[in-house]
Amino acid sequence: MAKDGIKAYKYVGKDKFKIAGFDTGDTGEFADRAEALDEFVHNLLRINKLQQKLYAERKEGVIFIFQAMDAAGKDGVIRTVFNTLSPHGVREYCFKVPSSEESSHDYLWRFWSAMPARGNISIFNRSYYEDVLVGRVHKLYKNQILPERMKKSDIIGQRYEQIRNFEKYLYDTGTRVIKIFLNVSKDEQARRFISRIDTERKNWKISSGDIKERQFWDDYMEAFETMVNETSTSVNPWYVVPADHKWYARLTVSRIVLQTLEEIDPQWPVISDDELEAVQEYRKELAASLPGEYIPPVPQLPEFANPGIVAAQIVENEERAKIVEKIARRKARGFKAVEELLETTPTLASLDAIIEAIAEAKDQETEFEEET
Ligand code: ATP
Ligand code: MG
Repeated sequence: MAKDGIKAYKYVGKDKFKIAGFDTGDTGEFADRAEALDEFVHNLLRINKLQQKLYAERKEGVIFIFQAMDAAGKDGVIRTVFNTLSPHGVREYCFKVPSSEESSHDYLWRFWSAMPARGNISIFNRSYYEDVLVGRVHKLYKNQILPERMKKSDIIGQRYEQIRNFEKYLYDTGTRVIKIFLNVSKDEQARRFISRIDTERKNWKISSGDIKERQFWDDYMEAFETMVNETSTSVNPWYVVPADHKWYARLTVSRIVLQTLEEIDPQWPVISDDELEAVQEYRKELAASLPGEYIPPVPQLPEFANPGIVAAQIVENEERAKIVEKIARRKARGFKAVEELLETTPTLASLDAIIEAIAEAKDQETEFEEET
């Protein structure tokens, strides 16, 4: 199971979330990012494996919703945590200010086309929760032409209930909704805004709208707190993630995604005995059709498609290479060990160690053959 460092951040509708006491600078059990690196990479690899199974099994759909104040790091979290997943079966949807067509419908209408099919993952970069965040802070419903009966109702209060019901409907019909609030402090937002203004390549990320919304900080905090308390349930929880340290937010989200997929526990589809028998027959034909004898492939170095390589590109560093080499030496006790190694040691720098491990394993095998 994923390390349960996320328990403290999970809301299921029992304990009240109080935004005032929340430590946005928390880094859990880690002193710095280097300590968390190893787990992060391994989480990504395990997420990758589980997603392949999720897709193959085609039983459940999953939605990961991301909400946050501007500059809290939504885009970076999504980019890094979902980086090693296959585009097959994963899609990100960014929900902006509704278009005039979207506004002419009920607020949930635009989300139907973004629902994941079974086995797929949809990432919602903002969502219908905007309708109880920016929609609540600025009372946007007042600008809409509404039937008389709606003008008297508690529009936002009703939305919490509608969202709870909507998500329950999704859960009951095969789609999980996992909600993640990246909680950044007001000071850290100021620092990130300044950096966006000072750094040319980040200029495009800041808008006058962002600066205007910052003036409503306290109203937003109230809206976030109420949103979490009103819409957390045991099956559709909210996670409030400390987001002042980008690396910790990314690690925490990787834990949330991993744990969600572990709970779903997807399995490779199995074929029936009859089918298996039929393909075994076919295998004989295939083997007979080859020019020479069929030789099963020996474990190879990772191919470029291996997610480990991608992960390695993110994290390659000297220290890690040394550790990996040590593990390689210790573990190289045969091809099985080498295979395991390929799965668990994803750095480019580790390639040499792996080659060496294979050589050692081969030597050991020869020795073994000579002995017997
Ligand atoms: P970036 O990180 O690139 O800034 P972003 O998600 O902030 O990404 P923007 O185009 O800057 O993208 O902002 C989207 C805006 O759309 C946000 O200010 C958000 O509040 C607004 N928005 C989203 N949904 C709604 C909605 N239902 N009603 C009103 N505004 C909405
Ligand atoms: Mg923005």
